[in-house]
Amino acid sequence: MTAKIWDVIVVGAGLSGLSAAHLLRKKEANLGILILEGKDRVGGRTLTTDIPAANGVDRWDVGGQWVGSTQTHIMELIKELGLEVYPQFNTGRKVHHMGGPGGKIRTYRTSIPALSPLTLLDLTQLIRKIDKLCATVCVQDPSKTPNATELDSMTLHSYIEKHSWTAELKEEMALSSRSVFGMEPSQMSFLFFLMYAAAAGGLLPLLESSAGSAQEFKVKGGTQQLSERLAERVGLQDVRLGSAVTAIWQEAESARVMTATGTFSCRAVIVTCPPHLAAKIQYHPALPSQREFLTQNMPMGHMLKFIITYQTAFWREKGFSGEIVAGSSTDCPFCVTFDATSPGGNAALVGFIAGQQASQWSSKEEYQLQMVHSGCAGSKGKVTCR
Ligand SMILES: Cc1cc2nc3c(=O)[nH]c(=O)nc-3n(C[C@H](O)[C@H](O)[C@H](O)COP(=O)(O)OP(=O)(O)OC[C@H]3O[C@@H](n4cnc5c(N)ncnc54)[C@H](O)[C@@H]3O)c2cc1C
Repeated sequence: MTAKIWDVIVVGAGLSGLSAAHLLRKKEANLGILILEGKDRVGGRTLTTDIPAANGVDRWDVGGQWVGSTQTHIMELIKELGLEVYPQFNTGRKVHHMGGPGGKIRTYRTSIPALSPLTLLDLTQLIRKIDKLCATVCVQDPSKTPNATELDSMTLHSYIEKHSWTAELKEEMALSSRSVFGMEPSQMSFLFFLMYAAAAGGLLPLLESSAGSAQEFKVKGGTQQLSERLAERVGLQDVRLGSAVTAIWQEAESARVMTATGTFSCRAVIVTCPPHLAAKIQYHPALPSQREFLTQNMPMGHMLKFIITYQTAFWREKGFSGEIVAGSSTDCPFCVTFDATSPGGNAALVGFIAGQQASQWSSKEEYQLQMVHSGCAGSKGKVTCR
């Protein structure tokens, strides 16, 4: 018996892989598509999980959660799959703690933190410069951006050092880099940063939770449902879990895709794993050198996300939004928190430990997290870290 030849094999059942399969199916209903996923679940870096809460158990996203109205593809997909979004709660005062353990704790209501007048001037000119550069970026192919090589040879750190003057703004930008990318500014190509900000509509829309920004909405019931519903539409029988791809051999007419337990033939392969994992697959013939160079030089960010559930949203009662922004030079490990109260009314905060702090904190024991939790939050809650 000759082995089946699939039209397309998709490697990875995260949002990219399942969306690719779904789009192909919509174009051609009879395509034979096989999806091979290394984990025992779909969703990749989106994961929705049960957490004990005030009124029993509720569900929270411990991976990707926010979407924004300007992100038209994901918004259309959410609608198409019959899911709903709800706005990120951001009413009330926000808390800002930068400048080391002795630094002033300030509160503010606007989208821009309560900075000194000099730092505000510095920030205004930096936003203007970055947004001007964003307007020149080719988001689809950043290498087509004017001065791409020069911008790519700089890090976000070197750009900030050259174009901002106040220590306070430098710290703010480092915090933004950590909280969005899980990376220190010195670890990231400035061109990549510009491409990402340009795709979000500019620097402020990338960072904020207001209308039109990247943190505008969350998905009711969690974002993993997107992948679950996509997998159902593509056909669960053709989504093979626990099937990590180890090698892809391209031959004259077809390709062979190998896992620990089987070999599958197909006419085309779509690899959707993040670059550092795509680099672990053996390719024959070897991938073009530019692609190899990319996967070897594109590190992942490092981010720990935690969710703390509470009996009540006491911060709302006191006129706070739940948003805390804290510099890494304070003795607080997290860089940012937001209100994460569920649509069902279970009070929670979500926060991130990111960049260098995430490297240090990922090796801590649970009791050390509990100590920090009682020190930082100062109220009884349940901590869930991923
Ligand atoms: C904590 C956290 C918070 C985030 N918050 C947000 C947010 O609020 N908003 C937002 O837009 N984005 C957010 N993101 C990013 C977002 O989750 C990701 O960009 C998105 O989920 C990536 O989807 P993907 O399909 O491209 O990759 P992935 O989700 O990584 O999917 C790749 C899949 O490939 C599988 N795989 C890897 N190697 C192999 C192999 N060899 N064989 C078979 N399968 C393999 C993996 O198991 C995985 O399932 C967040 C990410 C994290 C981690």
